[in-house]
Amino acid sequence: MNTKIRADFPILKDIIYMDNAATSLTPEPVLEAVLSYYREYNANVGRGVHRLAQFASQRYKDAHRKVAEFIDAKEGEVIFTKNTTEAINMVAYGLKFEHGDEVVTTMLEHHSNFLPWLRLKERGITMKIVTPTRNGIFDLSDFEHAIGARTKLVAVTQVSNVLGTISPVKEIAAICKEKSNGNGALFLVDGAQSVPHIPIDLKALDCDFLAFSGHKMLGPTGTGVLWVKDLYELEPTFLGGGMIEAVSLEDYKLAGGYEGFEAGTPHIAGGIGLGRAVDYLKEIGMGEVKAHEERLVKRLLEGLLDIEKVQVYGSTNLNERVGLVSFTINGLHPHDVALMLDEASAIMVRSGHHCCMPLMTYLGLKEGTVRASLYLYNTKEEVDTFLETVEEIAKVI
Ligand code: PMP
Repeated sequence: MNTKIRADFPILKDIIYMDNAATSLTPEPVLEAVLSYYREYNANVGRGVHRLAQFASQRYKDAHRKVAEFIDAKEGEVIFTKNTTEAINMVAYGLKFEHGDEVVTTMLEHHSNFLPWLRLKERGITMKIVTPTRNGIFDLSDFEHAIGARTKLVAVTQVSNVLGTISPVKEIAAICKEKSNGNGALFLVDGAQSVPHIPIDLKALDCDFLAFSGHKMLGPTGTGVLWVKDLYELEPTFLGGGMIEAVSLEDYKLAGGYEGFEAGTPHIAGGIGLGRAVDYLKEIGMGEVKAHEERLVKRLLEGLLDIEKVQVYGSTNLNERVGLVSFTINGLHPHDVALMLDEASAIMVRSGHHCCMPLMTYLGLKEGTVRASLYLYNTKEEVDTFLETVEEIAKVI
């Protein structure tokens, strides 16, 4: 599938891009969709009656529908945000927590799915943390112990952005239903590293909130999504124009669906671009995206494991991970390795703590790791160049 796809990413001409977990590249059709909004029908949405306003509003609405279909949800349940971080914070601010409630989360979480819960301490809410093995594998009985009658919310990443491991979200969803005194704890899935890479079946996930980033799945930066099963559970974080049905001197009534949660003028071009990104991924098929990454990560993982002085983190079982591998080279700072990869072979990877300081402390990796993360445009040849370059770097030390 690669040759045709790569033509849509001219930026790949002379670089090898393996920093997809941070943000993905943007294909030409998405850029065209963004530009055509500005060039052909630049107008605000949801308000005006003139033809441009009508057209822009329809396109923006269509984008919600496309994203909803992509995850098998309904249009009104998909709120556009600026990223995963904003989406998760909207849940932290918008849920009706009470003093004494508990939030269960894990040691694997990105700061974006950790700090919003940590701050709830100020409101008398306790955070409980489930710890996986060093390889990122959970023991489900730890969730059974942590989730109880006072658990209001369980917040877990579906894929670790450091270890690449897949969490047993379906099983955790079942424990949420069972263990919290029949009320059912609400369940938030951080899909930042899963939605762009593997097919998502919301029904099977059985969660209440799913947060993900448009910019990690070929969409423009400044785009993200919060899917909410039951909008009545949530208060909007921001209030203002574009989100109400009626306002009086004393009161207001929110508009139904996503509109009641998108205050003010949204990132219209970004949302439309995200709708196009989702079309692009659908044309290829998420099954194919997953299979492509699986083939590459097998080569990447096995290659790294074979290089002397290289330590690989996370499970080595390919069934438990996606196309993302963290590693270190003995005696070298991860930032130096990243710089050397860039200098030697124009390879872009991420290095450092990856916004997961609690996990890094747990793993005893003060300086973090080097992370290579793949996507649909990466090739076997690129993986080989990457492995050869890592081998050269490891020899120097
Ligand atoms: N959660 C996970 C698992 C992530 O990998 C990231 C991004 N690295 C985020 C949340 C935050 O995403 P964003 O920066 O788009 O808000």
